[in-house]
Amino acid sequence: MTDIQNIVILTGAGVSAESGIDTFRDGGGLWEQHRVEDVATPEAYIRDPDLVHRFYDARRAAIQTKVPNAAHDALARLDAAWKGEFLIVTQNVDDLHERAGASRLLHMHGEHLNAWCTACDNRSHWTGTLIERPPCPACGLPGYLRPDVVWFGEMPYRMEDIYRAINRADLFVSIGTSGAVYPAAGFVREARAAGAKTLELNMEPSQGSHWFDEARHGPATALVPAWVDAMLGR
Ligand code: NAD
Repeated sequence: MTDIQNIVILTGAGVSAESGIDTFRDGGGLWEQHRVEDVATPEAYIRDPDLVHRFYDARRAAIQTKVPNAAHDALARLDAAWKGEFLIVTQNVDDLHERAGASRLLHMHGEHLNAWCTACDNRSHWTGTLIERPPCPACGLPGYLRPDVVWFGEMPYRMEDIYRAINRADLFVSIGTSGAVYPAAGFVREARAAGAKTLELNMEPSQGSHWFDEARHGPATALVPAWVDAMLGR
């Protein structure tokens, strides 16, 4: 691994599954008993904002009872030790990577523990509920705070930073993601085109598994610590 300097890691719901946070696919296409179209689109929010707030308020409360697992811990260890460029691009909206100690991290699909004011564009750390339409801490207006989560049909965050990092990467690793949600599902092809080696660590072959140079299948809490140990020469 001496030829590898810059690493980009894409993570998905599978990394947090063993912390007790449901993935999408494991719900048979349902997300915590809801159809995605009913809770995770701008149209759903316009149609039934109370339903959407109740859904996200419950998930915001739930993730605060979960703790990082051995996969989050191993990635934080790699982040701390790796001398080259390093970036975790997570599709997850939980905060388990940062609670494990990772710092070179970006949330392309937003964060459960943020509220976004659509009146003044301020984002604030938020651990409570939004259904009662609290005022924005920045502008004071009630009724404009929404979950700071990228819904289907909305543009993911920090795409320029992500593509810049991928184009500098010598190694791209995809962990715990089904390869079904774009644009993240296309990152492996971008990385290949830029000359990076590519590795998939997932419970099962993802939809884009054939794009990777190498794929290892099993639970993230086993695969990720073993891979990190190898990267760090332990
Ligand atoms: P996904 O549910 O589509 O796919 C999860 C993948 O992880 C599957 O391929 C599955 O085989 C694999 N997996 C399940 N358990 C695993 C384990 N223990 N170890 C390794 N792999 C495991 O999730 P996705 O690809 O991240 O895309 C779904 C979208 O849903 C994302 O946009 C994400 O924002 C959102 N989401 C986020 C969370 C979260 O924040 N924790 C949870 C559910 C969904």
